[in-house]
Amino acid sequence: MQILDGKIVSQSVKDQLKIKTDFLKAEGKKPPHLAAILIGNNGASETYVASKVKTCNEIGFKSTLMRFEESIAEQELIAAIEQLNSDADVDGILVQLPLPEHIDEQKIISLIHPDKDVDGFHPVSVGRLVQGLPAFIPATPYGIMLMLEHYKIATTGKHAVVIGRSNIVGRPMSILLSQNTNPGNCTVTLCHSRTGNLKELCLQADIIVAALGKPGFLTADMVKENAVVIDVGITRVPDASKKSGFAIKGDVDFEHVAPKCSYITPVPGGVGLMTIGALMMNTYNAAQQKNR
Ligand code: NAD
Repeated sequence: MQILDGKIVSQSVKDQLKIKTDFLKAEGKKPPHLAAILIGNNGASETYVASKVKTCNEIGFKSTLMRFEESIAEQELIAAIEQLNSDADVDGILVQLPLPEHIDEQKIISLIHPDKDVDGFHPVSVGRLVQGLPAFIPATPYGIMLMLEHYKIATTGKHAVVIGRSNIVGRPMSILLSQNTNPGNCTVTLCHSRTGNLKELCLQADIIVAALGKPGFLTADMVKENAVVIDVGITRVPDASKKSGFAIKGDVDFEHVAPKCSYITPVPGGVGLMTIGALMMNTYNAAQQKNR
């Protein structure tokens, strides 16, 4: 069994981007510029945005953070997005989700200019992805693809089971794995909360991507020998032994599943670390598109 190490792969992605960014600067071009919008004081959102800004600094990207109160009016948020859309210096825009309940998330996502949609959630980005055109790919599935590529994991002709059909993880993951690419070319089964025979399907899978948000859900009796298991889950569970008061748990019962696997991602230290690297790739590509 080999651990798929998100730290190593994400560092390699960041190193490559830093070299490319240094090169741009040496040529007198501007570095890629990511603008993030953060609303309210959600602890997890604060942590994610802080990591994104920190990574921008590490690799030489420019970043802008716009912060708003939880009570922000939808119109004010729309005005901020329109300002970033028309700012020629900004290459990528991300609005950290979730948004407060009084704001229409889908409407806000649709207002981001598709050329700056580095989260890949805009309907234009999704349509391009589905058609196999160059597209901004949502960061978590993109990060998983980069990981499969890094470890040269054979995917062609394999049966992949994706558990979870969300727009940010499960569904785009199922599309990417089914595409005529490498990695890709899998036969994909997309499972969800209404799937009747999940265990049976998982036992047929060469590759399982667990993205449902239920700690320890995927147990050893659901996994065949030598499967590749990708754990996307991130759930905070109370843990008095931690300074923070919580531990991060994945969707896989790692202790018992890992011995059966050919490859497996740990939580933490796996997919989560890849997500930011993939976002940076999208931001770099957004800047390049503009340069072209
Ligand atoms: P979501 O709540 O939007 O979707 C969960 C999906 O799981 C749904 O499609 C649902 O049908 C399915 N599901 C729920 N119970 C099920 C069951 N018993 N059997 C089969 N399917 C079931 O969640 P999401 O946003 O896709 O996130 C999933 C997990 O991944 C969460 O833990 C989240 O924190 C984590 N996540 C991690 C990263 C990362 O960077 N590693 C990024 C995004 C999300």
